[in-house]
Amino acid sequence: MATLGIPQNTIEVLQKYHFNFQKKFGQNFLIDTHVLEKIIAAAEVTKDDFVLEIGPGIGTMTQYLCEHARAVAAVEIDKNLIPILGDTLGAYDNVEIINQDILKVDIRKLAEEKNGGRPIKVVANLPYYITTPIIMGLFESHVPIDSITVMVQKEVAQRICAKAGSADYSAFSVFCNYYAEPEILFDVPPSCFLPQPKVTSSVIKLNCRTQPPCQLEDEALFFRVVKASFAQRRKTLANGLSSGFCELSKAQIMQLLQSIEINPTVRGETLDIAAFASIANQMHLELRKP
Ligand code: SAM
Repeated sequence: MATLGIPQNTIEVLQKYHFNFQKKFGQNFLIDTHVLEKIIAAAEVTKDDFVLEIGPGIGTMTQYLCEHARAVAAVEIDKNLIPILGDTLGAYDNVEIINQDILKVDIRKLAEEKNGGRPIKVVANLPYYITTPIIMGLFESHVPIDSITVMVQKEVAQRICAKAGSADYSAFSVFCNYYAEPEILFDVPPSCFLPQPKVTSSVIKLNCRTQPPCQLEDEALFFRVVKASFAQRRKTLANGLSSGFCELSKAQIMQLLQSIEINPTVRGETLDIAAFASIANQMHLELRKP
């Protein structure tokens, strides 16, 4: 039975193993059964699913995942947590604990081995210090993923889900929206964790797209355009792109933007994915000109 969401049970486990929290690993353990149940329900985990959990801690959410999923792989960097996980997850035979840095795990291989290449679900209370590389890594590995349901810092959740033109909109928002349809589900206050973090958290769900939201001639070029457009937020789109694409003259960039009816004087952060895609596709043609 999943019991570690009850604060007293977590405290007992921590005391039994004389566990010392490691700040450098972003260790804030969930101690709220209500929040845990809401995350599991939002992730829609069923007995057909293979779930990847990043950072199981002492196994609080892992217990719930084991009860709902067919199989779970939980990747934990802190070797001091491994014997604890052996204890708290001892009753489950559908979990594999991997003592590794998630940023070094070959997730594609893991998904292939454990789920025959079918889409996996990712569920985690992420270590906040590496939220961005973890999410980027999941998408860039091109692992088939059904959804990513994760707890992140509230500000990061807002950035991921931001719409074009808003203050929180960034290259990372475009990146996440290209691969998935993200939504903020609910906020979680510091009091739901041990120890309490300094920030408010939010649970988000990224429903991964099966098809890209726009037609692209060159995906890498698209991300280059996005990066250049956000590199200096005070610059106009034309100036941002000029700095990022030295192989084209400013006049060429101005002309290129005008040919697709995008005003060169707007700021990059006002553009949506479709606009970035049409710039990238036009750029693709321009760069191929002899
Ligand atoms: N899932 C647990 C919970 O909800 O109570 C713990 C969540 S805690 C916010 C983050 C966990 O990620 C910690 O257990 C930490 O040791 C682990 N972690 C930190 N960096 C990691 C990395 N690079 N790879 C794998 N796990 C990591």
